[in-house]
Amino acid sequence: MTSRLLFLGPPGAGKGTQAQQLAAARGLLHLSTGDLLRAEVAAGTALGLEAEAVMARGELVSDSLVLAIVRSRLEQQAAVGAGGWLLDGFPRNVAQADALKTLLDDLGQQIELVVLMELDDGVLLQRLLSRGRTDDNEAVIRHRLEVYREQTAPLIRYYREAGLLQAVEADGTVEEIAGRITALLD
Ligand code: ADP
Repeated sequence: MTSRLLFLGPPGAGKGTQAQQLAAARGLLHLSTGDLLRAEVAAGTALGLEAEAVMARGELVSDSLVLAIVRSRLEQQAAVGAGGWLLDGFPRNVAQADALKTLLDDLGQQIELVVLMELDDGVLLQRLLSRGRTDDNEAVIRHRLEVYREQTAPLIRYYREAGLLQAVEADGTVEEIAGRITALLD
């Protein structure tokens, strides 16, 4: 059973919704760096204070900070001998992907599948504008899409060349998209 995977795709593609459902259905750890960072902001931790302004601008939080969060979760899970995980919103640039590879090598684990969720910019913008999160105003959204294209989209090629990438069309109902993703899994 496919149990170590990550979701890639632009903001607004629906990664969070699909990741949450799939992780629950398969008993995987759902690790969303966006959710974890927002929780730190809400709790007012030092880490949250560092991340808050960066997130509000739609920029990427520093690699070291995000990596520390991911590392501790994956190590914790490996220590209790639990199985799978689903990464959502991480990695977001090539440096993070390289660091993830090193971390997984240390843990003796491997990514089994990368699911790319594809959607037109016009649809993304409409979805994000209707979501109403504090970093969801039009200027910030446009900037997040730009950051995605410049920093995250290179991961499509990175994982395609590693033979791990499968793409799904992210337009349709939540159930339709879930069906397309499930069809890719063992
Ligand atoms: P979206 O998918 O809509 O962009 P996320 O919840 O994944 O939303 O991320 C929200 C914000 O959190 C990002 O714009 C960024 O500032 C920060 N963030 C999340 N994950 C990462 C990451 N892996 N590296 C750097 N910053 C991140």
